[in-house]
Amino acid sequence: MAAATLKIAVIPGDGIGTEVMPYGVRCLQAAAQAFGLALHFETFDFASCVFYQEHGEMLPLDWKDTLLKFDAIYFGAVGMPALVPDHVSLWGGLLKFRREFDQYINLRPCRLMPGVRCPLAGRQPGDIDFWVVRENTEGEYSSIGGKIFEGTDRETVIQETVMTRTGVDRVLRYAFELAQRRPRKHLTSATKSNGISITMPYWDERVREMASNYPDVAVDKYHIDILTAHFVQKPDVHVIFDVVVGSNLFGDILSDLGPACTGTIGIAPSGNINPDKKFPSLFEPVHGSAPDIAGKGIANPVGMIVSNSVISFEEDKSVWAGQMMLQHFGFHDAAGAMLQAIERVLARGEAEVLTADMGGKGTTKALGEAIESEILSFK
Ligand code: ATP
Ligand code: MG
Repeated sequence: MAAATLKIAVIPGDGIGTEVMPYGVRCLQAAAQAFGLALHFETFDFASCVFYQEHGEMLPLDWKDTLLKFDAIYFGAVGMPALVPDHVSLWGGLLKFRREFDQYINLRPCRLMPGVRCPLAGRQPGDIDFWVVRENTEGEYSSIGGKIFEGTDRETVIQETVMTRTGVDRVLRYAFELAQRRPRKHLTSATKSNGISITMPYWDERVREMASNYPDVAVDKYHIDILTAHFVQKPDVHVIFDVVVGSNLFGDILSDLGPACTGTIGIAPSGNINPDKKFPSLFEPVHGSAPDIAGKGIANPVGMIVSNSVISFEEDKSVWAGQMMLQHFGFHDAAGAMLQAIERVLARGEAEVLTADMGGKGTTKALGEAIESEILSFK
């Protein structure tokens, strides 16, 4: 049977997003060559501040119909804070994708890679290996609220947290299923039910009920304050973390802190997933547009490249199995090879190849091309 073609919408965005994206695409193309996959790429300029400056909007009117024709969205980064306020560029583009395409899972692996200096003393590759699962569509990130008595000394602002049973249950179910498939079968729930007295006890209650469906998964709950302390003090595999699930806000914080504990934000990938496959999922690096280093050609491209391998997890979990699409592509092998290629290049530790955030003096080009040729060696 002829292999179906995986259609990927490429959105480089702003800043270093446009610098790392070419290497993300080239590495995917290399994997496609090495493993005989059929990939089709189409690049779009919207959801960027450059587009906003020209059109006064982050997205064209028909963006949804345009992107619905794709299987996945490959996204660089957005933001040019000197020209467009961050809340405008974020809410006008990327966050619309997340909400309109119901990408209710934000998945971020935290893994210590060989050759990367860990900011926590004494850790070796393999010591840190866990996933943060963040609720991505509701919770604390609602725009319900307002300001009253403005300009007086009674000025008051209110912003509501929204948790629905459907919204909470679906992220918990996803996290439990992920934990169940991992060898350690452990789930940590982030909460703050001592201080936030309505929504967080509800979250805990849903965790308790969901846990009864997964008797083989061990469950811990931690308040977010001590949980962040544990991330820094003892994130090691043999101590606690395996799958960590949190609300939109707590998950956001943990999913930046987690990768930071594994060396540099520059290597961390992120998947915004619609597990129901009704809409395309979006894969991106965790980092933003990094205006401070944009234009210098020194951004680390690994987060962009490795975000492809998040797709392989999806295949594992048969999330895409409806069309058996990735089986046609043999994506699992290709994604595994990509990760191995990255690890080999990083482990060599060549200063000319590693970027500055990893202690080297290499360029985006040097590191991107080294990984690309390593992937091609699988051919
Ligand atoms: P956002 O709000 O979009 O997440 P941000 O302002 O929080 O963006 P980043 O743009 O990710 O943060 O940048 C944070 C810091 O990390 C900056 O100093 C930036 O230079 C550095 N950084 C981010 N990504 C990379 C990368 N790929 N390579 C090297 N350094 C990076
Ligand atoms: Mg950030």
